[in-house]
Amino acid sequence: MQNLWNDQEAAQFTDDLALRVYTSRLLGREKTLVLHGGGNTSVKIRSTNILGEEEDILHVKGSGWDLETIEAAGFSPVRLAHLVALAGLPELNDIQMVNELRTHMTLASAPTPSVEAILHAIIPYKYVDHTHADAVVSITNTRDGLQRIQEIYGEDVVIIPYVMPGFDLARTCHEIYGRDATGKTIGMILMNHGVFSFGDTARTSYDRMIELVSRAEDYLAAHKAWQPAYPAPRDEADRLREDIANLRRDASREAGFPLLLMTHRDEKCLSFAQRDDLEKISQQGPATPDHVIRTKRIPLLGRDIAAYSQEYQAYFDTYAHQARDPKTILDRAPRVILDAELGMCTLGRSARDANIVADIYRQTMDTILRAEGLGGYQALPARDIFDVEYWDLEQAKLKKGGNPPPFAGEIALVTGAASGIGKACAGQLLSQGAAVVGLDIDPAIEGLFDHPGFLGLACDVTETAAVSAAIETCARTFGGLDMLILNAGIFPASRPIDALDKSLWNKVFSINLDANLDIMRECHPLLRLAPRNGRVVIIGSKNVAAPGPGAAAYSASKAALKQLARVAALEWGGDGIRINSVHPDAVFDTGIWSDEILRSRAEHYGLSVEEYKTKNLLKTAITSHDVAALVAAMCGPLFAKTTGAQIPIDGGNERVI
Ligand code: ZN
Repeated sequence: MQNLWNDQEAAQFTDDLALRVYTSRLLGREKTLVLHGGGNTSVKIRSTNILGEEEDILHVKGSGWDLETIEAAGFSPVRLAHLVALAGLPELNDIQMVNELRTHMTLASAPTPSVEAILHAIIPYKYVDHTHADAVVSITNTRDGLQRIQEIYGEDVVIIPYVMPGFDLARTCHEIYGRDATGKTIGMILMNHGVFSFGDTARTSYDRMIELVSRAEDYLAAHKAWQPAYPAPRDEADRLREDIANLRRDASREAGFPLLLMTHRDEKCLSFAQRDDLEKISQQGPATPDHVIRTKRIPLLGRDIAAYSQEYQAYFDTYAHQARDPKTILDRAPRVILDAELGMCTLGRSARDANIVADIYRQTMDTILRAEGLGGYQALPARDIFDVEYWDLEQAKLKKGGNPPPFAGEIALVTGAASGIGKACAGQLLSQGAAVVGLDIDPAIEGLFDHPGFLGLACDVTETAAVSAAIETCARTFGGLDMLILNAGIFPASRPIDALDKSLWNKVFSINLDANLDIMRECHPLLRLAPRNGRVVIIGSKNVAAPGPGAAAYSASKAALKQLARVAALEWGGDGIRINSVHPDAVFDTGIWSDEILRSRAEHYGLSVEEYKTKNLLKTAITSHDVAALVAAMCGPLFAKTTGAQIPIDGGNERVI
């Protein structure tokens, strides 16, 4: 493992806490040491309080901060003497411990100190570093892990048997460290958990961490277990969308709310999921207790799939606050599902969460295979796993958190999403928590939103095969489809019927009508599997009720689309799918309406631009965001009992009324 210390960089960090920030970030840069919030660090600093008294303060990583990006404000200052005294108590439950940590901080606005704060306090060195290094975790998760650790480190480390993180672990470390530590001790190996290093300077403690982890890596390499083997998988599946959507529906049912299900079918994930010994190696609990993967078997798709539930701190805010009895929910919701065909599926209420689970499990696969390479992976017994969950739940109860956004765990597909109303709909649904797939013929769609929950696909909706491929991609990326927003359409230049040739007519119909038939037909099998029932919203037009001269093809195609929607409402009601239409008029904040065009149209009517924009009964301007907000509302609970409706959003039009 490379030592990233750099004298020039380090020179910019001048005081003790700043240096603590610097080497914490160095650890954070190495994903095999700390992944998504794993690991923590501290420094002990003597300071003067407001009464002029000197006291020793432990600055320990606060919850919610990641080592890679931590700042001085991410360290919680806690009175050291109190923490050390606590370590002498025979017992302290989790709630009491968190209470002691929080009430002995010297800064009210600091984050809650790490669960391992007392452990940091009892180590008699200024700087303490703690990681969940893959290499160390791999070695300790084997049958003869203890002997191997003794062989690698000899007297350089104190070895701690597995105890769940929290007070008992701190007390155990206190006892064993007091008994076994010598002048030569530079670190501590926690079985099935990770490694501590310490020293009088930030650099010493960091250097020792790198040295300890390097020794574990070298050991694995010498035993030909460092590079995990992923034999080439088979990949024959071409259409998986219904299987995926079924699985997601079942998982969401177990959870009690909709979840995204992201499939990962790269070589590594497929290879792991296709192993003959999958059940044996993956049903043994977590690689480290901080990222708990609970294992259970649930019958899905008529097959018996090994399913893994993984809890990650980030989830607790959401889950614990939503469920009346969070523990039941947590027990029921899987986080990782491995399947020979689908590969690795990760679940979460947002793409961000599901991606975190994926990162963690990818690393877990390496850990498991390295341990297998050393003669056999052996993780924690189930009892300990429960303990960790319980601890985290207690933590969650102490936290405050809001409700999840309205469309958390749901997926929307928006056509014509690169601009105008389509773009506004995509943005609105994203902001309300949905994962969104945007289709557009304009390749700019691909980079439209920089958001893990957005996937932009360049797609000509008049090509049936392209539409089918896009919907397959949607299902593989996010797990299915809950909401379909049919927006793509064209409004050709005005032309009287006398001059309207068939080719223009056909073009308008192919985009405004025929493409929607293809999309609806292709999406129906997914919409009927939506955990909270499928919803379709069609962007119609004022022209359906009040056509204008020169717009025959446009008006006729939109009127036909309205009939298509009405028939779909009749046919799909039995599947719980709702189809409603909005009919906007005079939405001018879209790409086609340049200032130039607006001015000339206004002049044509003898109006100012402002008068032209608000030429309706309510004298109000209608924006694409107004339309998007109505579309989102129609996908939400307000319209849960409405289907086949036609709703104008036009500021009031005499001809429509
Ligand atoms: Zn830890």
